[in-house]
Amino acid sequence: MQRLSVLFSTPKGCYDYLSADLLPAGQIVAAPFGRRQEVGVIWPDPPDLSVPAEKLKPISHTLDLPPLPADTIQFIDWVSKYTLSPVGMVLKMALIPDLEKQSEKPLTFDPPQISFGTVSFSPAQSDAVERLSAKVGQGFSVSLLDGITGSGKTEVYFEAIAHALKQDKQVLVLLPEITLTSAWLARFQKRFGVLPAVWHSALTPKKRRDTWRSVLSGEIKVLVGARSALFLPFPNLGLIIVDEEHDSSYKQEDGVLYQARDMAVVRGKITNIPIILASATPSLETYANAQIGKYDRIVLPERFSGLSFPDVQIVDMRTKAKGKRSFISPLLEQKLRDNLSAGNQSLLFINRRGYAPLVLCRSCGERLKCPHCSAWLVEHRNQGFLQCHHCGYTRKIPQKCPTCQETDSFISCGAGVERIHEEVLALFPTARTALITSETMANPKVFSDLSDQVLAGNIDILIGTQILAKGHNFPNLTLVGVIDADMGLAGGDLRAGERTFQLLHQVMGRAGRDQKKGEALLQSYSPDNLIIKALAQNDRSRFLAEETAARQALQMPPFGRLAALIISGKNPDTTYQAATRLAQTAPFITGVSVLGPVSAPLALLRGKHRFRLLVKAPKNFNLQSCLTRWLDVNRIPASVDVRVDIDPYSFF
Ligand code: ADP
Ligand code: ZN
Repeated sequence: MQRLSVLFSTPKGCYDYLSADLLPAGQIVAAPFGRRQEVGVIWPDPPDLSVPAEKLKPISHTLDLPPLPADTIQFIDWVSKYTLSPVGMVLKMALIPDLEKQSEKPLTFDPPQISFGTVSFSPAQSDAVERLSAKVGQGFSVSLLDGITGSGKTEVYFEAIAHALKQDKQVLVLLPEITLTSAWLARFQKRFGVLPAVWHSALTPKKRRDTWRSVLSGEIKVLVGARSALFLPFPNLGLIIVDEEHDSSYKQEDGVLYQARDMAVVRGKITNIPIILASATPSLETYANAQIGKYDRIVLPERFSGLSFPDVQIVDMRTKAKGKRSFISPLLEQKLRDNLSAGNQSLLFINRRGYAPLVLCRSCGERLKCPHCSAWLVEHRNQGFLQCHHCGYTRKIPQKCPTCQETDSFISCGAGVERIHEEVLALFPTARTALITSETMANPKVFSDLSDQVLAGNIDILIGTQILAKGHNFPNLTLVGVIDADMGLAGGDLRAGERTFQLLHQVMGRAGRDQKKGEALLQSYSPDNLIIKALAQNDRSRFLAEETAARQALQMPPFGRLAALIISGKNPDTTYQAATRLAQTAPFITGVSVLGPVSAPLALLRGKHRFRLLVKAPKNFNLQSCLTRWLDVNRIPASVDVRVDIDPYSFF
């Protein structure tokens, strides 16, 4: 009998089992685990010889599947060590439920046709195609494909895909989930004659199962997916593309906390293949790596249509008439009116769902709060309720104020997308409008139908949240109005400025994509803000230079490293004590500073009290081993949870 390590999708490490045959690492097996049979994977870790062999159980059987590829296993181990997450929880992301179940009629995946719909390229595009294609099959490299929206990045990276297919390799394309639309798939089909395999959170169990199996068998050649696709067991991966690489949704914020763009680079290094990061507004991390020559930067300087970026104008909202309770300035109103008469389409952007972010009692000042979080309840007037955007708690708007008992005394403060929609309808009663948020567009079918309506010219004014910022090409859309350009700048977290720049740049880039020149208006109460100015002047390099200098001065990422510790628990005192004790035992190392504990901005979330510590270290410092040693010596009460967030993106 052989002794083997088996890893399950649990927070505990490997367990030893016996097997008559020597099974290869990666082999998927079923084994008795507690009272049940569980599916696990033979892991290359050496068995734990301290457990006597007679105590071990034999493996039940092996599954009729190829073993997980060695580089997938290595990647899982690496991510576990980097994020300080249990390796079993990383494995869980690589497996699917019901692995033993086989579909009766499994889906088949047609191979893409390499020369189906080739396009002819401009000289700059051709150059980019050549440089990228030359990297395929030549080992690890990272390229930043940098070009404004509409410059042809997608067409160009399609050629790199074709090149990998010629070498009979598999290709993974990562997209932010909301960009993974029928429009992208249709373009792929136009180029390669078939649809690619897709991977996202809304797949049916059958589709998920068949897709997973066909990735592992090598039948799937090109898969496009959201961040979780990175953990699929490709046996023959030859290229990874991360589109919209700056998008903060690549950071997973629950379970294993990882940055899919960064981990894609790691995966590329382990598998020894090229990575392409594409963006019109690269992240500071990627930009800095390109500056020092670690990444190759390939630039597409202009829009394929020959049109330049829309003209941008700031509307100074400080000077708007007092007392006029309107969120659309007279100038924006005028531009909307002109655009309507010209028969063009307009887009109004506000990145806030619901009707109003705050509801308060006019008679006593009471603000309606979430009982489980330190957050105001957001009014959703269309659905007739108030909702907490952090935990999902909902309630009806009370008839009476719970504090002063006054009836009908609540007023809505501030604006969300529903309120802007209401204002548009009041200003332009005959305009055909569409309200677009993640709720109204929850179903992809609704979204693609609406897209068709827009393309057919049946919509005049679109009003929406960031779901509208990405991936759509509406040729007749010529005016973009940003209702509240300052919104994302508040709160002051590390990337607030960067995110605002990226998002608003992208939103404004929706105007004038095709034949007609576009125009954008930025409504702002801080028109002198550097980011608002850089946006108005379409001056990306100035923004990048200033943001880089600021981060460098403070040794903040990408010039230093950060980790956040979030300490949470039901009891505020025990939780605070645990946080304080952690801070007191923090390691003294030159260059490493530990800030906190401070009450988290969301001091109460889902009924738990939260404190934060922030660890700041030099760039080449081994943060993980320092954190592991530090946390090991602390006894954390079972009622308190400590989460480590390496390279944090959220600071709430
Ligand atoms: P990006 O990904 O940079 O936003 P796309 O690849 O989506 O740019 O290109 C923008 C538009 O221009 C698309 O409709 C695309 O089909 C078209 N396009 C870009 N390059 C070419 C080309 N060489 N030939 C034909 N159409 C092109
Ligand atoms: Zn809540």
